[in-house]
Amino acid sequence: MSSEFEIIDRYFKKKMKQTALGVGDDAAIINIKKNREIVISSDMLVENVHFLKNTNPARLGWKSLAVNLSDIAAMGAIPKWATLSISLPKINHDWLKEFSKGFFKCADQFGIDLIGGDTTKGPLTISITIMGDIKKNKSLLRSGAKINDDIWVTGQLGMASMGLASLQGTLRLAPSLKVKCIKALETPTPKVLIGSHISRYANSCIDISDGLIQDLKHVLKASSAGATLLLNEIPCDPFIHTSKKYQFVLNGGDDYELLFTAPKKHRLAIEKIAKKTKTATSIIGIITKNTSLKVIDQKGKSISFNSKGFDHFA
Ligand code: ADP
Ligand code: MG
Repeated sequence: MSSEFEIIDRYFKKKMKQTALGVGDDAAIINIKKNREIVISSDMLVENVHFLKNTNPARLGWKSLAVNLSDIAAMGAIPKWATLSISLPKINHDWLKEFSKGFFKCADQFGIDLIGGDTTKGPLTISITIMGDIKKNKSLLRSGAKINDDIWVTGQLGMASMGLASLQGTLRLAPSLKVKCIKALETPTPKVLIGSHISRYANSCIDISDGLIQDLKHVLKASSAGATLLLNEIPCDPFIHTSKKYQFVLNGGDDYELLFTAPKKHRLAIEKIAKKTKTATSIIGIITKNTSLKVIDQKGKSISFNSKGFDHFA
């Protein structure tokens, strides 16, 4: 048992819940309801670029899908369908079994059908296309931020990049914190539920994948606005404050939290949604008219910071 087709049947063909035609034909077919739109995004994960060699395959399966779900969450849409194109250096059944287990654990948790893909031989690479749906014209764009909007983020920032640094031996962490950070790095939770609920209240949204500063800058550029961030309000582990290693919070990648902006009048409504969806949310700053980005410490002093996040070609 070693052909491409046997691999697909054994590891990637599962029952579908919301798909007219799934894996097995030349293409898949999905039905769309009236007054809804399809939101589509792709993310590719390459060994030694996006994940370390010998990463646990079940965690890699989870993460491959989770990072894609995060993009759909950032649009305020509901993710439903995925395709998986995978290139494998060799057939390793133990690896494939674990990878598909992790992938479908995430798929089942978030109600995703795997409807197709491609399987080839080559360097370990995973490319996923995710599709979701949303009511027409309701998507949350990067370009919608308005002056005086609160800037909100979900979760805790910097955990994943601390996890990576500790695995790479450039950061020493207490054992319990290290476990938490590696978990954040390898099995991020996409903020799908809160994403689809805040679309009524938020003006703009992005998922933080390349660092808070860099991703906020995408919103500012698209919205022709600026921002002031309050360093002390950025949710992070206390270790960040004691060690003053703010670079993990400001520039660290792989957070997969949402950053969204919303008018002050919606604070209560957003807090209710946060509670209902059991998602930590914090206000970390404000959208300003001048197009610069400032970060202010607790004394109100503007701090200097590196404005670069992760960039493959930098
Ligand atoms: P084609 O020859 O038309 O490219 P394939 O033989 O590659 O088709 O694929 C057969 C079926 O299996 C198609 O429906 C395809 O979408 C699906 N498929 C292939 N690889 C995967 C995968 N890794 N995960 C899910 N579905 C897959
Ligand atoms: Mg093919």
